[in-house]
Amino acid sequence: MAWFKKTRKPIATATREKPSRVPEGLWVKCPGCAQIIYNKDLAANLQVCPMCGHHFRIGALDRLRALFDGGAFEEYDKGLVSTDPLHFTDTKPYAARLKATIESTGLNDAVIIGSGTIDGIDVIVAAMEYTFIGGSMGVVVGEKITRAIERAIERRVPVVAICASGGARMMEGALSLMQLAKISGALARLDRAKLPYIAVLTDPTTGGVTASFAMLGDLNIAEPKALIGFAGPRVIEQTIRQKLPEGFQRSEFLLEKGMIDLVVDRREMKAVIANALRFMGAGRSVPAAAPAGAAADAAAAVSPPIPVLDDTARQA
Ligand SMILES: [Zn+2]
Repeated sequence: MAWFKKTRKPIATATREKPSRVPEGLWVKCPGCAQIIYNKDLAANLQVCPMCGHHFRIGALDRLRALFDGGAFEEYDKGLVSTDPLHFTDTKPYAARLKATIESTGLNDAVIIGSGTIDGIDVIVAAMEYTFIGGSMGVVVGEKITRAIERAIERRVPVVAICASGGARMMEGALSLMQLAKISGALARLDRAKLPYIAVLTDPTTGGVTASFAMLGDLNIAEPKALIGFAGPRVIEQTIRQKLPEGFQRSEFLLEKGMIDLVVDRREMKAVIANALRFMGAGRSVPAAAPAGAAADAAAAVSPPIPVLDDTARQA
């Protein structure tokens, strides 16, 4: 019967979007200032809008290249892959999801560990990749970061973690939650070894990563306007039934409330990290032109331990 079924077509909207004549991938529209930016200009500017300073998300590999001197670093534990210990299935089996993500990203999991020099300082950096299942932290991410910290203790070099994550990986259940404690434990050993650790929080850093290593830095630095929190704003609003303040869970808000130490433009990040590491005593005993990779291992092994600025404060 006609009044139970909609036989007529819905009213068509007159203003249907015309297909763009701009070739895909050459230009991008900035979400910050709505300017059209040439992709090459954006890449040359570390994916920061030259007009308004909006920070586009960038991948782990680009991060490492931007941080290390000459973009050169040695990668560790590249081959570690999750074994799908729970044989988890949601909308599709976790094993299939892993396989597809490994193919599309060219990475084996959501973190890359690189060793090299930043402004002449020998450093181990863990950079997270958001496009790998939301940068989620499972067994592999936990193991790789823990090993990176243990290597840093062995070689007496500082650690920098660049966080970009939706949190723990639900497909690995409690096993991913254990990584919070595992990495935190390794960081405590790094602290006892009196080696600096800097956490860089980028858009977005949430969930289990915020609840562990992202907030444990001797210095916690965030990029401008990055979303940083544990639960998302929508979940909090539904739970407490209150409207959240403007800019809630963004870097600047967290800086104002004392949750983080600095908000730093990506284009200045390398200089700020190098200065902070130097201030914390790193790199003093390492020659300025420290060779990267295996040769650096040997150089670090013979160099004396990093001096500590305030010994009594850290023992308290
Ligand atoms: Zn802009």
